[in-house]
Parts: sequence; structure tokens; C-alpha cells
Amino acid sequence: MHLRYSYRVYPTAGQRASLARTFGCARVVYNDALAVRKEARKGGLPYPKSADLQKLVITEAKKTAERAWLASVGVDPLIQSLRDLDTAYRNFFDSVSGKRKGRPVGLPQFKSKRDTRQSLRFTRNGFRVRGNGKLNLAKIGDVRVKWSRALPADPSSVTIVLDSAGRYHASFVVDVESDVLPEVDAEVGIDLGLTTYAVLSGGSVIDNPRFLCKAEKKLKAAQRELSRKAKGSKNRAKARIKVARAHAKVADTRMDWLHKQTTRIIRETQAVYLEDLNVRGLGRGRLAKSVHDAGWSTFRRLLEEKAVRYGRNIGIVHRAFPSSQLCSECGHRDGPKPLTVRAWACSACGVLHDRDLNAARNILAAGQADRLNAPGGPVRPGVAIPRQARPVERGTHLGDLRTTGVRAAGTGGVPAR
Ligand SMILES: [Zn+2]
Repeated sequence: MHLRYSYRVYPTAGQRASLARTFGCARVVYNDALAVRKEARKGGLPYPKSADLQKLVITEAKKTAERAWLASVGVDPLIQSLRDLDTAYRNFFDSVSGKRKGRPVGLPQFKSKRDTRQSLRFTRNGFRVRGNGKLNLAKIGDVRVKWSRALPADPSSVTIVLDSAGRYHASFVVDVESDVLPEVDAEVGIDLGLTTYAVLSGGSVIDNPRFLCKAEKKLKAAQRELSRKAKGSKNRAKARIKVARAHAKVADTRMDWLHKQTTRIIRETQAVYLEDLNVRGLGRGRLAKSVHDAGWSTFRRLLEEKAVRYGRNIGIVHRAFPSSQLCSECGHRDGPKPLTVRAWACSACGVLHDRDLNAARNILAAGQADRLNAPGGPVRPGVAIPRQARPVERGTHLGDLRTTGVRAAGTGGVPAR
């Protein structure tokens, strides 16, 4: 399986200039190729093939006066830039045909000098890691790397990324054997929340780290500073980098925390069940900032990646499943509860429930039933999500029982899909 390993790199001033030149060339090649394809589309001509495009916008272009400078950079990143364009087109076509799920993908766009993130990819021919730990990039030189952890195997490609905070990273793709852990008995249902980050069906709670809230004061000060600087001035550019750095630091801390939490959960449990929350829908609402801060989609993605790697199972419970309405003791459906209701007593059996813990237990039961009913064994990571699904506010499931065929968890039923 392919995994990414990212490290901070520190190019010298000269290397930064070479990188900037290569970013520019890769962008020009990409835009030239995109223009050719757009023209062909407009003219009703057949879709230009990748090999022909490569010849036209790299090999032939180098011989012209306007594009002669393409020869001053390595050819590998230029070819990779065209591959990226191919991928962008493939995603668009697959999205139109319905082969690709999720949000619709538009046609590829022209790249701009002002894009906040610049990147270059080198394949095996274009880079190597030297014995002294430096990363050699063709026509750039030996770049210093901060090896925060060891590479588990020979990487097949590396992407150099310059972010808006002015930092450079090298992201290696490594093909590794999966690391299947010994089986354990425990399974867990997880209810994601805002008051606490998550409640696990076993009763443990992951507290909300609220990184953004803590860092907010600093961010606000930096933002104010930025708004006071004259447009186009050098000081404004400096202030902008300061803001970007503050944001980047928060993102790093959050990622680190998410890695720790997800690794622990995957190690301790054989199967993890989550609700299919509509994070994009939630992110637009009043709760946007908290949702963004919580990083739920990343939490889920990391769990899925680690489950594959360590031989664990992930089940996603349909978003219409009324996890906060059912009694996890007797299966009685008690009706919708506003978010302010943190605890409730079942009107059928009288058991007193903590809202989130009850939901986590229902998610566990629904996920387990789903897994048993699934044809061909365990639920795979990334169960298909209905495209037209409505936004759901956390805890108040707007979905309709009749349309999904959900029966009470604990008595065995889950959405059959
Ligand atoms: Zn009950």
C-alpha cells in the first residue's frame, strides 16, 4: 500500500530560486496543455492525447524563442505537471459520468502565479536520498531535510510543496507492506460531538482540544496587524506570512493530536463504527468554526487509512440512523431531542441516558449488525455516501425512518444498502 511521509525541508536561497523557476515552468506547461485541450474542445476536435501534448508543450516548445527557458529546469517535474492535468481531467470525466462519488468535480482551471500553494513532483529519475541525509533533486541540488521519522522503504516519488506560510515540505510516497496487528476482541462505536470531541461506546470521552480557540487571540492580533498595513506594501506581505504561520501552527498541532487519537483507537479495537456526518453541510452553518476546528473529516480519514494498514475494520453508519433517538437498552424510539438535551430517560424502560454515550452505543450496535448483514464479510472502509444527502445537524437526525428501513439498534436492524 502507498503511504505518504512528509518532512520539512530547508532549501538554500539559490535552491529556492531554482525551485521558484521550476514551479513557474511546471505551471506554464500545465496551462499551455490545458489551453490546447480547451481549444480542441471548443473546436469540436478529438481530446488531445497526453504523449502528443507532452511533445508539443515541452519538447517542441523548448525549441521556440518564447519557451526556450523551459530547458533550464529538470524535465521530470514538467512531465509530472502534465500527469496532474491528466488526473484533473479524469476526475472531471468520472464525476460527470457518475463513476466518481462525492462532490462534483469541475473542469481543470488555469494555475496562477498567485496560488497560495505551489508544488512539484519528482519521480525516481528526478531525485534520490543521499547517504548524508540530503535530498538530491535534479537541477536543484542537495536540499537539507529535517528527518522527523525514518522512511520505512525506498520512496517512489517526492512532491516538494511551498505553502502560504513560506515553508517547504517534501512529501514522499512509499510502498509498504501492511502492518496487520494481532486481533483484539474490542469493538467501538463513536459519537462525534462539539461539547466533547467524541464519546466512545465503552464510556470513555475524548475531550475537545479547541486548538483554534486557544490560538485565536494570537491569530486575531496578527490579522489586525495585517489589516492595518497598506495594500501592496512590503510590511503587508510580511504580516500576511505571519498570519499564515499562525494558521499553519494550529493545523500542525491539530494533525499531531488527531494522529495520536486515531492510532490509539485503532490499536485498541478490532472494529470502529462511526456516523456518516455531513461535515461539509455542517461546516456552512453557525457551527462552522467549531466544526472546522474539530477536523472530523480528517479524523475519519485517518481512522480509515490506519484501519487498512493495521488490518482493522471501519463501518460507517448511515446518517439517517436515529442514534440519538433510540434507547440503547430496549430499542424504543423515543423521538427527536434538541441539542440542548444532554440526558434523557427512556419513556419505555425508564433507563436514564447520557445523550452522547447512548448514541455511541447505538452506533456500535448498528455498525455490528450492518457488518454481519453485509454480503462478503466485513464492511470496507469508505462505504458509499448518497450524493443528494441532506445536511444533518449533529445529534438531531433529520432523516426519515421510512425511507431507510432502519429498525431499532440492538434488535438487529440497520439500513440495508
Ligand atoms: Zn428503553
